[in-house]
Amino acid sequence: MKFETLAIHKGNLITDKNKPVVQPITLSTTFEHGNEAGALYTRASNPNRSALEEVIAALEKGKEAAAFSSGNAAGTAVYQALEPGSHIIAPDDMYHGLHNSMTMLFKGIHEVTFVDMSNLEAVKAAIKPNTRLFWVESPSNPLLKITDIRAISALAKAQKALLACDNTFATPVFQNPLLLGADIVMHSSTKYFGGHSDILGGALVTKETDDFWAKIRTVQRVGGAVPSPADCYWLTRSIRTLAYRMKGHAEHAMILAEFLSNHPKVEEVFYPGLKSHRGHEIAAGQMSGFGGIVSFTVKGGAAEADDVVSKLHLFANATSLGGVESLIERRAAVEGPDTLTPPNLLRVSVGLEHTDDLLEDLDQALS
Ligand SMILES: *Cc1c(COP(=O)(O)O)cnc(C)c1O
Repeated sequence: MKFETLAIHKGNLITDKNKPVVQPITLSTTFEHGNEAGALYTRASNPNRSALEEVIAALEKGKEAAAFSSGNAAGTAVYQALEPGSHIIAPDDMYHGLHNSMTMLFKGIHEVTFVDMSNLEAVKAAIKPNTRLFWVESPSNPLLKITDIRAISALAKAQKALLACDNTFATPVFQNPLLLGADIVMHSSTKYFGGHSDILGGALVTKETDDFWAKIRTVQRVGGAVPSPADCYWLTRSIRTLAYRMKGHAEHAMILAEFLSNHPKVEEVFYPGLKSHRGHEIAAGQMSGFGGIVSFTVKGGAAEADDVVSKLHLFANATSLGGVESLIERRAAVEGPDTLTPPNLLRVSVGLEHTDDLLEDLDQALS
């Protein structure tokens, strides 16, 4: 089955004799012993969570998925499942929440080297005998840097280490890291999976149900950072339209990126769909679309960038991304003093409003 069909028909668990067309929400935290499905207690498993995991695994072409209560909980589960003393190679522009997870929660437990993952020589130079995990985020946040997932996979295999890929920006509509050599895929389902800025969630998907995956399942069940049945239901529901939303987001992002590229007040535009983007060729070789996030720098500095944001009407000045509504944010202001992000950079999560209205609003705010 094709992506659109899987998104609609997988993970729709009907147990009711009345045969409703959509799955019921099973709120019960406990289940009678000896039931057919073997359900016991909702922290360990729940029908709505199983349904969500089934559809996410199918869309990412994996064996199984594990759903978590946030993207950070999903990423953190990978670091928890590693043997203590492992060395991790991670991007220097990693999503700051997971960067914080590594540096704040695993200090003294694991060792981390942050490098520019788009520079293969730098990645090779960072490898140590105890390197157990390569963490990739492509496109990255907020510069939309592209990492060659196949090339990093070859390095990871030679090192007998795992390759995990944060696929939140690309989504499985445009990129399947497991088919490019990754072992684990991570998602913040808060973003495009949810798609309406009203659900917090995360997921991991595995290529193999091996020993490492068994540890991930233990972290999920014992750690207990699991989503509620209702959140699982709403996520499954949102995923039904993921393919169509992503096509819209990417089409709109390209239109905005081209408009901004030709605007005299704009210094530089970062969008992997633009031929001028440094990672365009690698992106075209591993993605079937370029996603819905566009970053750009405004001529001048932070004050000029803030001025643009304050004049916009349709773009909410808010963090996060992936919803139907357009959002804009000056990233350096939220990432703190250690950030590598230019102070005049604005990140746009391009929404599904009509692009005529979006361009008109941007044009008046920039002039
Ligand atoms: C938001 C985000 C996360 C963290 O997800 P939460 O659901 O906020 O915990 C991780 N990676 C990327 C790329 C993100 O955008």
